[in-house]
Amino acid sequence: MARYRGRFAPSPTGPLHAGSLVAALASWLDARANGGQWLVRIEDVDGPRCPPGMDEVILGQLAALGLVPDEPPVWQSRRGDLYQAALDRLIASGHAYGCACTRAEIAAAMGPRAKHGELVYPGTCRHGTNGRPVRAWRLRVEGRVDWQDRRLGTQSQDLAKEVGDFVLKRADGLWAYQLAVVVDDAEQGITDVVRGEDLADNTPRQIALQRALGLLTPRYLHTPLVLAADGHKLSKQNGAAAIDLSDPIARVRDAATELGIPANGNSTAVGDLLAELAPRWKPALTS
Ligand code: GLU
Repeated sequence: MARYRGRFAPSPTGPLHAGSLVAALASWLDARANGGQWLVRIEDVDGPRCPPGMDEVILGQLAALGLVPDEPPVWQSRRGDLYQAALDRLIASGHAYGCACTRAEIAAAMGPRAKHGELVYPGTCRHGTNGRPVRAWRLRVEGRVDWQDRRLGTQSQDLAKEVGDFVLKRADGLWAYQLAVVVDDAEQGITDVVRGEDLADNTPRQIALQRALGLLTPRYLHTPLVLAADGHKLSKQNGAAAIDLSDPIARVRDAATELGIPANGNSTAVGDLLAELAPRWKPALTS
């Protein structure tokens, strides 16, 4: 069995909030509880959505909270060659194909089945673009993916019906999150993905890509989401507040409480608090 390697992979579109800290702490605790390594990857593939310097803000927040990676962080924006090599392999093996469709054409082809924003691609270009120029690259998906989550149990998604052939490289030339995350998790030897439950429905797409690329599938654990007082999930999109770093110990305590392990000691240093929490990490008991 490969030695445990986990990671926290924030998109630097805004500072970490209380919800991101729960995911970061869970991935750190799981790595420590398993005697493993914990890495940080800056997921800045979608450059236009990442304000300059936000990566350093996030790394500074993590450091203030005592969450220090065991290896230097990597930046997805510097790893385009790896993503291109993976796409080339997928094209050569027939798993990926060029697509000439615009969003408007996809919506029109779907007719009344087109859902708001999320379009299930009807496969128009599966057998060629009929001479039209390629805009994006898509993965050819087949059927259903069944998978295990360490907290949520058995999960299943009919990729063909619910998602369709999804984008690997966008029409604007940017790499899709799905391809970058799969290539990086494999290249960095990640054995365990621990992240927020809002990402759980991406997992079948990532497993399909791993299979198409002949890569191992890591274990997955999706952590409970932190809800704001009004019941909405905290997210950068709805303007969740950045973590207040005036009292890092209190913030780590809050996050640990969300994960079902309220701190019992009186640690006066964040490192001591983290060391107290690690042996008590029992993700199977969190809900
Ligand atoms: N970059 C993603 C996000 O911040 C997380 C990706 C992952 O953990 O797989 O939402």
